[in-house]
Amino acid sequence: MSTTGPPHRYTLGVLHGDGIGPEIVPAAVLIADTALEAAGAPPVTWRELPLGLRAIEGLGEATPKSTLAALAETDGWLLGPHDSAAYPEPFRSELNPSGTIRKHFGLYANVRPAKAFEGGNAVVPGTDLVIMRENTEGFYADRNTHLGTGEFMPTPDIAIAMGIITRGACERIAREAFELASRRRKKVTVVHKANVLKLTTGLFRDVCREVALEYPDVTVDDFHIDAMTAHLVRRAHEFDVLVTENMFGDILSDLTGELAGSLGIAPSLNASQDRAMAQAAHGSAPDIAGRDLANPTAMILSTAMLLDWLGTRHQDEALTRAARIVEDGVSATLAQGTGTRDMGGAAGCRRFTEAVAASIGQL
Ligand code: ATP
Repeated sequence: MSTTGPPHRYTLGVLHGDGIGPEIVPAAVLIADTALEAAGAPPVTWRELPLGLRAIEGLGEATPKSTLAALAETDGWLLGPHDSAAYPEPFRSELNPSGTIRKHFGLYANVRPAKAFEGGNAVVPGTDLVIMRENTEGFYADRNTHLGTGEFMPTPDIAIAMGIITRGACERIAREAFELASRRRKKVTVVHKANVLKLTTGLFRDVCREVALEYPDVTVDDFHIDAMTAHLVRRAHEFDVLVTENMFGDILSDLTGELAGSLGIAPSLNASQDRAMAQAAHGSAPDIAGRDLANPTAMILSTAMLLDWLGTRHQDEALTRAARIVEDGVSATLAQGTGTRDMGGAAGCRRFTEAVAASIGQL
């Protein structure tokens, strides 16, 4: 802590989730503990809370109200992936756990970096960009109405979806993007589809352009979502911060994750002004769950993002240092050729995690 007084003691929530969650979340906790100790930060108190399939079985709710109440008392939390498509009805049709938590706490900014590590099997080496995805509205039906969803089926053969874009939500995500770019390579790219979705994504583009005027040091350009995908495949390394609406951001970040090496290394943070949740960009990967094949990197790096966010918020240099140590540990591990199967390596989740911990010990 930079100011006077005793250091803040952090309590962080731990939600294992489904599929590979119970493998990758404990890995992230272990690496965070190792890095915090290496950074000279006081240990964090971890608070495990029920969510997902096990919460349905034990408490009759996928996202228990008791879990939401407990999270409100923490400084932030780690959310493992959930396999809501496998939930029994009525839980499968409800808003999924991640959507419920994002909505409950108003986590409007989904920050998704894509960084190519040496030895990390990148499709576009040198990629180091961040997608700033608006998280509360857009064309995802679960985010855009007060009651029910934004999808309708007037007859069994007609389905209608609606999207929502508001000036307020565009302004706050644009500001997050420009603030972030100010601390990075000072370039923001606005991604939209204003030639077709003229009013909605046109408003998004225009508001981002207006906010850009407040940041004369940051260069801004904009692309249609379809052109953007093509540019990324060829030259992802040239982009810095991309700001976009919800669905485009979701799709683009899977692409950039893979371009940077693997979806298994793509981290994310969901944040508002005063709350943050670490969540890997990938899903619960049920095809490999329980087999020690999962890549824990995305969850580990998401946790580093949470530590960094807390470090900035509390002006706590030890936490900021711990976040950097986690990244350096992952980077050193990949550079020495240790990787999981999705990255072309042979290490399991456990062995990879041990290797990262050992790397941190040698930094
Ligand atoms: P969601 O809709 O929840 O994002 P999804 O079905 O689109 O889920 P994922 O669960 O992310 O997709 O899985 C996509 C593919 O990537 C699967 O083959 C999965 O095994 C693989 N994958 C995802 N995450 C990891 C990981 N951490 N380590 C290794 N492979 C992964």
